[in-house]
Amino acid sequence: MKAVRFHAHGGPEVLRFEDAPEPQLVSGEVLVRVRACALNHLDLWARRGLARVTFPMPHTSGSDVAGEVVASSAPDVEAGRRVMLQPGLSCGRCASCLSGVDNDCLQYQALGYLDHPGGYAELVKVPVQNIVPIPDHIDFVQAAAFPLSFLTAWHMLMTRAGLRRGEDVLVLAAGSGVGQAAIQIASMHGARVLATAGSDAKLERARSLGASEVIDHYKQDIAKEVLRLTGGRGADVVIEHVGEATWARSLRALARGGRLVTCGATTGAAASVDLRALFGKRLTIAGSYMGTKGELLRAARFLFSGQLKPVIDRTFPLADAAAAQRRLEGSGQFGKIVLEV
Ligand code: ZN
Repeated sequence: MKAVRFHAHGGPEVLRFEDAPEPQLVSGEVLVRVRACALNHLDLWARRGLARVTFPMPHTSGSDVAGEVVASSAPDVEAGRRVMLQPGLSCGRCASCLSGVDNDCLQYQALGYLDHPGGYAELVKVPVQNIVPIPDHIDFVQAAAFPLSFLTAWHMLMTRAGLRRGEDVLVLAAGSGVGQAAIQIASMHGARVLATAGSDAKLERARSLGASEVIDHYKQDIAKEVLRLTGGRGADVVIEHVGEATWARSLRALARGGRLVTCGATTGAAASVDLRALFGKRLTIAGSYMGTKGELLRAARFLFSGQLKPVIDRTFPLADAAAAQRRLEGSGQFGKIVLEV
């Protein structure tokens, strides 16, 4: 089969469109013909390489996959079924997995990361519990754009922040995968969304997704604007994934008793906290990484009903994965970049 792999870490130029061995099914697994695979920042971290993390080479990225079942070791999963894939892989047998918090499994890992070849390929295999059947009216590009961003945003808002109706939520970088998902999920649950973006066109799109107020994060001070827009109170919840560039202002934007949830550090991982603000304002800082299989199934109901719609920035053919990753690195996109296979 054809796949896009890298044999060494580096820039987008290390990605090679080449022949790769087909995945070999073992008991409990399903083989899927990939029709679409969405990009995530995780793909960029993997390609660049991380200190103290060793990737088996060559490596195939791709956590967000939609396609058709080709072969299955489970009798009730027939060939031809249209599916999207749960991006979180876990052992399925430990106390965490069996308690429904599979994202706490010691083996929890994203598809397309470390030793799990992902969806930058014509074929991918996953455990049978990782397939999510999709209805005919959801196309493969939409389905591939959904799982990781919406699962991450859902877990951040609903589980880690415990979002309540009527709260003010600050969503950073509306054009990012997590940003566009968080705006939709928060507004659907009755929150007032304040969103940031870096251009007028992106701010307008944030409004069309459900943001009530928008802030230009290049021209305006996020914290000052949030305080102004909330009558000096601040945001009940802040959805962070930008990191160093915004961290201090994100903390200052929090209301008393506010919760900041972070799932990323795109601009750098060094950040500090003024402990006097932390205890004085009774703030909560929570980390978040992907989510549970049950959460994705709950969120998917709103995809299927049309209440949640992944925003597609652009699609590229699989062979142009390097160009697709360059677009993601350039931060010019609004919504998901998807490879069509
Ligand atoms: Zn487990």
